[in-house]
Amino acid sequence: MSAWADDVRGFEQGDRVVGQPLVTRGQCRFCRSGQTNLCANVYLIGGEQPGGFAERVAVPVSSLFRVPDNLSLKQAALVETLATSVHAFERNLTGILRSVAVLGAGAQGLFAVQLARLAGAKLIAVSETLSNRLAIALKLGATRAIHAGQENVVETVLDLTDGEGVDLVIEAAGKAATRQQATQLLRPGGTAVFLALGAELTPIDFMSVVPRELHLRGTHCYTDADFCLAIELLSDREIIVDPLITEMPLQNGLAAFEALASSISRAAPCSIPKLIKDSLRD
Ligand SMILES: [Zn+2]
Repeated sequence: MSAWADDVRGFEQGDRVVGQPLVTRGQCRFCRSGQTNLCANVYLIGGEQPGGFAERVAVPVSSLFRVPDNLSLKQAALVETLATSVHAFERNLTGILRSVAVLGAGAQGLFAVQLARLAGAKLIAVSETLSNRLAIALKLGATRAIHAGQENVVETVLDLTDGEGVDLVIEAAGKAATRQQATQLLRPGGTAVFLALGAELTPIDFMSVVPRELHLRGTHCYTDADFCLAIELLSDREIIVDPLITEMPLQNGLAAFEALASSISRAAPCSIPKLIKDSLRD
């Protein structure tokens, strides 16, 4: 922190903080029940309001969380990303979790692998088209990496579960094909959590959903509670973030986004602008 309004108390020059970027007025019934991620009057710092990729940004003090001493600012930059995966698990985990399939091994998928491991899953299968991401997934706790361009994802997961399907699918790719796979990979009564945003329309065979009592659930962003837990998990080293990060100069930002959008990136899934890192003297 470098500056604050006169009525702000409890912070000092140089305090290390991370901002929860979903800002609400806190008055609606969703906010009042702690579901601030569902508020209709929400705005996103870095989305509706400017702030992403800036050296300095104005943030409501109520949105600030202290960064523990043992976390670098580079690691803390991924709290927001992790909080989204934390929310997906916190909202949708019920009962004993034995088997998980994660579709897509970008940052959310790689966090989902680690959260599935923390939740005790014995089988954690991950599908992805980029080999380098699959290699990271195996290091972080995945028990089976499936190259989606070379293997049949549905057949492979069903083989791994004696034809039954998995308890939980985390759909972290946002494509029609992976959404359809999500429903095909579940055991009867299983839950598919759709984490990735993607505008592609997706035909789903409800003749396989209804009789098998599948649960199809969306998940969106995070709450303050998810932010707190994400910081704890990083600080306690229960979630590892360093293999997910590639640093690059800010002037290469456009190329980084274009590579990620075209799925040709060989870099780790999260790119941290080096300019921001330097400016924070991390
Ligand atoms: Zn609200």
